[in-house]
Amino acid sequence: MKSDKKDIRALTKEQLRDFFVSQGDKSFRGNQVYEWLWQKSAYSFEAMTNLSKETRKMLEDNFVINHIKVDLMQRSNDGTIKNAVRLHDDLVVESVLIPTKTRTTACVSSQVGCSLDCKFCATARLKRMRNLNPDEIYDQVVAIDNESKLYFGRRLSNIVFMGMGEPLMNYNNVLKAIDKITSDEGLGMSPKRITVSTSGVPKMIRKMADDEVKFKLAVSLHSAIDEVRTSIMPFNAKFTLADLRSSLVYWYEKTKSRITYEYVVWKGINDTQEAANALVDFCRFAPSKVNLIEYNPIDDGDFKQAPDSAIQIYVNTLERNGITVTVRRSRGKDIDAACGQLANKQ
Ligand code: SAH
Repeated sequence: MKSDKKDIRALTKEQLRDFFVSQGDKSFRGNQVYEWLWQKSAYSFEAMTNLSKETRKMLEDNFVINHIKVDLMQRSNDGTIKNAVRLHDDLVVESVLIPTKTRTTACVSSQVGCSLDCKFCATARLKRMRNLNPDEIYDQVVAIDNESKLYFGRRLSNIVFMGMGEPLMNYNNVLKAIDKITSDEGLGMSPKRITVSTSGVPKMIRKMADDEVKFKLAVSLHSAIDEVRTSIMPFNAKFTLADLRSSLVYWYEKTKSRITYEYVVWKGINDTQEAANALVDFCRFAPSKVNLIEYNPIDDGDFKQAPDSAIQIYVNTLERNGITVTVRRSRGKDIDAACGQLANKQ
């Protein structure tokens, strides 16, 4: 049912306090409600038991609490969990819980669909339907934190913005969500445990540097040669590698924070020594780490994972140049939960 009432979680704490004063009540009532909404993730006004019945009714008359609903939870045989998350307007996004021996990582979505057009990514085929609101991002994290406690007996330890969408095309809401996730009035997580992954939007990387954000940056590079990158990530024609690189130089100067590059090696696309050299030239200006990620096929014959010998060219070339490199195996492939497979297929 559509409602004209306002989403109460769109209000800041100050606005909530002002609202109560405007109702002839005390401003601290706003703090109480804020705590229910964020720290305690209350999904109804009814649940706010330290408020009087009248106050709860008054809130009910004025606001709604738009919350997500985990429609379907799938568990992979490697322990990975994928949530299909229904939003208040019935659109669906996906988030993933990735467990290792010592960590639980949440991979969350920032948009319904995606604004960009990477040829190898299933989400790109959905197009962008809308940006997620801060509370919708926050709720995905809370849902995974709860699942981590339930199934693994520990709290969520890390968050990566590597689900659906391009986080830097929804920068303000992503920032607001991270503020809540890191605030003591939210989940109190350290920003150092949060990584925002971008396809590379230079203007926004500069903005992040100016904002002195404390979370980490990962760039999905996949090629350091313009012609190749444009052929697989067409927006690269507009946001060229030179521009991307200069924004990263700026980022590093301002934040001194190491940059991670995500990189898939495909057969016949970027599996040569020349391509590996170009990657070194691109990222050697600052401490960097390259994650060589496994390709997860999305029914597109143009893309095939390169053989291990090509991966080895990259590993050798990067290591020789003092660049940290890891080779990452995919998780959750059997439930379409791996990188680039999120497309609401179920
Ligand atoms: N838009 C952001 C975050 C979402 S994609 C970004 O581009 O970084 C998360 C990661 O999965 C990116 O590194 C992306 O390049 C990678 N990816 C996309 N499709 C993939 C596929 N089919 N196989 C492996 N990785 C893929």
